[in-house]
Amino acid sequence: MRRISVLGATGSIGASTLDLIRRDRDQWRIVALTAQSRVEELAALAREFRPEIAVIGDETRLGALREALAGLPIAVAGGGAALIEAAARPAALTIAGIVGCAGLAPTMAAIEQGQTVALANKEALVSAGEVMTAAVARHGATLLPVDSEHNAIFQCLAGNRPADVRWITLTASGGPFRDWPTAALAAATPAEAVRHPNWDMGAKISVDSATMMNKGLELIEAFHLFPVGLDRLRIIVHPQSVVHSMVEFRDGSTLAQLGPSDMRVPIASALAWPARMDTPCAPLDLAAIGELTFRAPDEARFPATRLARQAAEAGGAVPGVLNAANEVAVAAFLAGRIGFTRIATMVEDVLCAYAPPAPGSLDEVMAVDEGARRHADALLEPA
Ligand code: NAD
Ligand code: MG
Repeated sequence: MRRISVLGATGSIGASTLDLIRRDRDQWRIVALTAQSRVEELAALAREFRPEIAVIGDETRLGALREALAGLPIAVAGGGAALIEAAARPAALTIAGIVGCAGLAPTMAAIEQGQTVALANKEALVSAGEVMTAAVARHGATLLPVDSEHNAIFQCLAGNRPADVRWITLTASGGPFRDWPTAALAAATPAEAVRHPNWDMGAKISVDSATMMNKGLELIEAFHLFPVGLDRLRIIVHPQSVVHSMVEFRDGSTLAQLGPSDMRVPIASALAWPARMDTPCAPLDLAAIGELTFRAPDEARFPATRLARQAAEAGGAVPGVLNAANEVAVAAFLAGRIGFTRIATMVEDVLCAYAPPAPGSLDEVMAVDEGARRHADALLEPA
């Protein structure tokens, strides 16, 4: 049995992961399951999967969790420090499925134990950058990319040398507003933004897909995961989300990974790596899909990828500032406090106003994140 922890067990990534584990129950011993506030859902998962420990991030809900799991041989804990301690428990694999920079400290705790981390939580890597990649190297940890694009690239690169890469091309669905004219974007609602055409995901990443900031964050994520240089990374819009990304080599060969738009495929690739496992996902029916199309991204309508590329070029604290400002802006948009197009302009405003020095430690990364949040909050009208 392999020991596995699922951070963010109640989320979309958590659900897809646990669905695969459920089908292969004898293979796994669940170490930790965590959630932020949904006690009932976490308790139900804990009753089913019998982890060693269940952790609720929001400490005010700890009593409710304790009550729900009373009498069971499952340790229960709450709060940020408990999340970190749970993530540091020995496990063969840790699924980093928390959303936002909130997942950084637990993910780093798993890395510091030299664990293998299946990374969905892209914001953690974007914020921490070299602080995380240096910790991976120092502690002999392994990062397995779960983000579908990065998982695709990881698969295409297997057995190849980074020096032979000409291009890495991240595909983007373009999100729900792909074909909307500029004038309509300002009035786009949260309900419209979270209705992604191809993928069923959490609210935050769905809004990021609509602004294309998701692809911007993924560009920075790819920059850290695949050291071929920023100038070899590009983005192409591919509305069908069948080609999950591709790598072109110096000899003119391009390798791509294709699959259904179902996160259980890249998650399974990480769960079984370096082997393969069965998934219940429908086989790819290319004849039924018929057409795969590609087009250049439109940065005039969707400036987020430009901002992210500039942040990656600048390095240091800038990607963390971009990420934190975006998290605040997306939350404000979902709460109806700002319009859709204000998300990207707010990120740009914070990038112009706040330029802290490059962080060299996890604490300094967290300080950059807090500082950028304060700057972004100050741009919002009082609630
Ligand atoms: P989600 O909103 O569905 O779930 C988020 C999970 O994180 C929940 O379990 C929640 O309880 C937990 N969480 C939220 N805030 C927290 C906090 N402050 N402290 C501790 N835990 C907290 O999100 P998701 O769509 O599953 O995405 C998770 C991560 O995976 C994100 O970084 C996202 O960008 C990435 N990702 C998701 C998908 C997808 O298909 N959903 C695809 C690629 C990458
Ligand atoms: Mg992705």
